[in-house]
Amino acid sequence: MNIVLLGAPGAGKGTQAAKLVEQYKLCHISTGDILREAVKNQTELGVKAKGFMDAGELVPDDLIIDLMKERMEQPDTSEGVILDGFPRTTTQAVALDSMLSELGRPLDSALLIDVENEAIVKRLTSRRMCRECGYIGSTKDGSTCPKCGGEMFQRDDDNEETVRNRLDVYDKSTAPLIDYYRGKDLLLSIDGDRDPDVVFADVVASLGL
Ligand code: AMP
Repeated sequence: MNIVLLGAPGAGKGTQAAKLVEQYKLCHISTGDILREAVKNQTELGVKAKGFMDAGELVPDDLIIDLMKERMEQPDTSEGVILDGFPRTTTQAVALDSMLSELGRPLDSALLIDVENEAIVKRLTSRRMCRECGYIGSTKDGSTCPKCGGEMFQRDDDNEETVRNRLDVYDKSTAPLIDYYRGKDLLLSIDGDRDPDVVFADVVASLGL
C-alpha cells in the first residue's frame, strides 16, 4: 500500500505515520526527517537545504525529487510506503507519479489530515521532539522523552514567525495538491483537530486497514 499524507505542517502527519508504522510495519518516509539528518551531518544536501528550512521556505524541487528518487529505490520501500511531507508542490506530485509508474507501483490514497491554521500555530509553537528517538510531543512532556528518556527539544522552525510563513507556503504551494488528488479520485479527508488516537481510528477506517 502506497499512501501520501497531506496536511499543513503540524497537522499530525508525523504522529499518524508513526502509529501506522508501529501497527502495520509500513515504511515511513519523511522528507523533513531526511533533510534534518542531512543538516545535522552537514552533508552537501544539508548545507544547501538549511537556509530554506530555517526560513520556513520549501527546499527547491530538484533537490527533493533527486533525494526521493534515490530513497524510493531502496529495498525497504517495495512493500509500500507512507509519504510524509512529500509531495509538497504540483511538480513534486507529477514526479512522484512517474517514479511510482516506473517502479510499477500504484498510489492507493492521498489522506488529508485537516486542521485549521490557528490551531496549528498553537500546536507547533508548543511542539517538542526527542533528540534520540524522534518522538513528537509537546511542552507538557517537559525536558525528558516519555518514550526513551532522551532530551526533548524545540525544532528551529517551530517559532511563531517561521510557523506562520510555513502555513503561507502550505496554502500557496501545497494545498493545491488537495484538488490534484481529488481529481484522480484518490483523496480521503479526515478531521485532524482531535485527540491523536481518535484521529488514528479514523485513519485506519478510511484506509480500510
Ligand atoms: P517537515 O518536517 O515536513 O515540516 O519539513 C521541514 C522543512 O523541510 C520544510 O519547512 C521545508 O523547508 C523542508 N521540506 C520537507 N519536505 C519538503 C518537500 N517535499 N519539498 C520542499 N521542502 C521540504
